[in-house]
Amino acid sequence: MAVISFSSANPTDAGRRRRNGFSLPLYYVQILALVLIVFIILMNYLTLCVNIPTHPWQWLSIVLSSVIILPFSVIFIVLILSDPAEDSVKNQNRGPRTDFDRRVHQHVITNYYCNICDANVTEKAKHCSSCNKCVYAFDHHCIWLNNCIGGKNYRRFLTMLTLLVIGTLFVFINSLLQFIGSFLTSPSAISLNPYYAPDRYAVLMIPASQIAFQVISGIVAIICLVTFAMAGYLLGFHIFLCYHGFSTYDFVMKRRHNRTIDQTLTQFNQLAQNSREEPARASKFLPIKKLRKNQVTDLQENGTNNHHSNGNLRNDQIFTVEANYMSEHQLVLLDAIEKGHTSIVLKLLRNHISLDFGDAYGRTPFMIAAKYGRNDIMKLLLEHPQSKEVRVDRGGKTALHYAAESSQLPIVKMLSKRQPSSLTMLTNKTKLTPLDYALGADDVYPSLHKYSEGGEVSGGDTDDDEDDKPMPGAYVKPKKKKGSGKKKIGKKSGSKKKKKSGKKK
Ligand SMILES: [Zn+2]
Ligand SMILES: [Zn+2]
Repeated sequence: MAVISFSSANPTDAGRRRRNGFSLPLYYVQILALVLIVFIILMNYLTLCVNIPTHPWQWLSIVLSSVIILPFSVIFIVLILSDPAEDSVKNQNRGPRTDFDRRVHQHVITNYYCNICDANVTEKAKHCSSCNKCVYAFDHHCIWLNNCIGGKNYRRFLTMLTLLVIGTLFVFINSLLQFIGSFLTSPSAISLNPYYAPDRYAVLMIPASQIAFQVISGIVAIICLVTFAMAGYLLGFHIFLCYHGFSTYDFVMKRRHNRTIDQTLTQFNQLAQNSREEPARASKFLPIKKLRKNQVTDLQENGTNNHHSNGNLRNDQIFTVEANYMSEHQLVLLDAIEKGHTSIVLKLLRNHISLDFGDAYGRTPFMIAAKYGRNDIMKLLLEHPQSKEVRVDRGGKTALHYAAESSQLPIVKMLSKRQPSSLTMLTNKTKLTPLDYALGADDVYPSLHKYSEGGEVSGGDTDDDEDDKPMPGAYVKPKKKKGSGKKKIGKKSGSKKKKKSGKKK
């Protein structure tokens, strides 16, 4: 394994996590930072503080710089040695998992569970790829410290940054005055008193010529000025973040999100313009699907068998999604729903886009919103007149199937208010009802069950505003258990149906 890493990603070997900033591999930027700090400190004490007139300026200069340099050095080392990881990760004896597959899991952390650390984490935790661990209240990974900054060391980080700004300003002024003073021939307030002889200056306590001293004090001044500017900018940025209650991570994600919205809106405006000019040419090459209405297929017969006693949904009220082409607007709509860009969805709906379409799998906008838990968007879609019609995709799944499958309780609630309760017993092609899909989810199942019996879904919190919130305390089981949960569904669904039919008799 490499001791020093030069890649910007600075990756850790899979199966290992970095404990602190001194864990291998070191990053070349952190070595540069350490060298510069040691250089500036040595220059301050062994060059700048020795060539100025003795007493009182010399002592004042030593005391003032020490008041900043000593606490800075201590905090800098403490920060590198700190481990800002989540407690659940810190207490683990084993290393992170190596079998994480991005094609299977869309996110590293799902439902407050990290798939790499194999641990439950707190709300603001993020998995740092450089450290390969979950960091408590993650802010950012600092390349200069080669360590993460999070809730456990953020205050120390701000203190270090403040001391760095003051310290570099102090050494910059000191070196600049000495640089200028070394050129003066007549005595003045900033005249120097070379340490060894009138023209023999001390540079790191080694006798040096006037020119050597001037070059070296000039270099120190430039380094300090650049560091002061960079650290000052960073400190200002963090004061801004603290004032607005953001973390660096929040800020970066928000900016990225806004940029995507801008890009998609530009794309949308271009498409709108194109389709106005050439309406016939739109989406010639997009192999997608449309709805075929009033088709009674075997899957709906299955559905009716199951829910006939509830009787308020007829075959001709169910619409199957069929093969056709999808326009660019429809593509943008599905993409915006998947990514949660509410403003784009709103704009498309205002442009009277029809919701009568599905993607290659026959998934309608409602199903995509249900699958990805887009509560705000679902609310907007349900205001559309077409929301009253019931659609199934090519697998025979309704939006309710999708909401139940991905444990989206707020969406189950919203759908229950607008669609007949018999939908909870509508089977898809694999003979599973939304109720079956909800079997693994402790919160969704009771609600759906209540709804299937014709009851109000939301126990006590029927307020519409409640639907917006993603259930703050709702800790859902780790996703890895999903596989075993599905097996359970397969076994249980049969007995469930028997129970149901038994009741009817
Ligand atoms: Zn993690
Ligand atoms: Zn990190």
